[in-house]
Parts: sequence; structure tokens; C-alpha cells
Amino acid sequence: MISAWLGRLERLILPPTCLLCGAVGVAGLDLCAGCLRDLPRNRTACPRCATPLPPGGIGACAHCRAQPPDFDRAFVPFRYQPPVDFLITRLKFGGRLTCARLLGELKNRAIEAPAFQKTNTRSIQKKGKASRYSKK
Ligand SMILES: [Zn+2]
Ligand SMILES: [Zn+2]
Repeated sequence: MISAWLGRLERLILPPTCLLCGAVGVAGLDLCAGCLRDLPRNRTACPRCATPLPPGGIGACAHCRAQPPDFDRAFVPFRYQPPVDFLITRLKFGGRLTCARLLGELKNRAIEAPAFQKTNTRSIQKKGKASRYSKK
């Protein structure tokens, strides 16, 4: 409750501003509509390790087919391409915590998206770990 109140106060004092171009942020994010739209989403990826596949790629990647990893599924919502790599390096080497907040929020929203929920909650529940990942 206090953190929600502090979050509202923070947005009132410091309204969301795009970390990439400085325009007004949208949807409570420090990204403008254009930069949000242009993020490199990892839509075509290996369902097991999340490695990006070439356009039109389907099924597991060659590595997972040859030697399956010890995990069943990985989720990587964005590709490590501009501007995502820029945000990560600014956080990691520049100490820009606003990048952590943005990347964390983008990850949370990707996990909460219906497409992710539809394809992933069934496999998580099947393994008996639903309580760890279930909604609050
Ligand atoms: Zn922008
Ligand atoms: Zn793979």
C-alpha cells in the first residue's frame, strides 16, 4: 500500500520520460509509444531455450534438438539488440537504475500478457510449481 502510494507520488513528481529519446513516456513506462513499439520482441524463438530463430523458424533450435538442455522452457521477451542492449549496458556498467525499473516492468508485462499465460502456465502447472508462478 505504501509502495503503491510512493509509486503514484513518484509519477506525479517525475512523470515517465522515454529513456531512449526523452519524449513523454506512455502506459507508466519510461518509454515513448514509438520506442515501445520498436522494441525487438523475441517472437520467433526456440520454445525450449528461447534462442532467436531465423524468420519463419519453427520448433526447437538445432542445439536443443542435438543436446536438449536440463530445463524444459525458457522465456526471453526481447532480443539482445538495440535498444535493449543499450538499456542493459547502461544499467550494468552505468548504474542507471531507471533502466532496471523499465526492464523489470517490461519483463513483468510480457509475463502477464495473455499469449505468455496461454502457452506457459499449463507447462508450469503440470510440473507442480503453479503456486510459485501463480498470480497474486
Ligand atoms: Zn522514445
Ligand atoms: Zn533451443
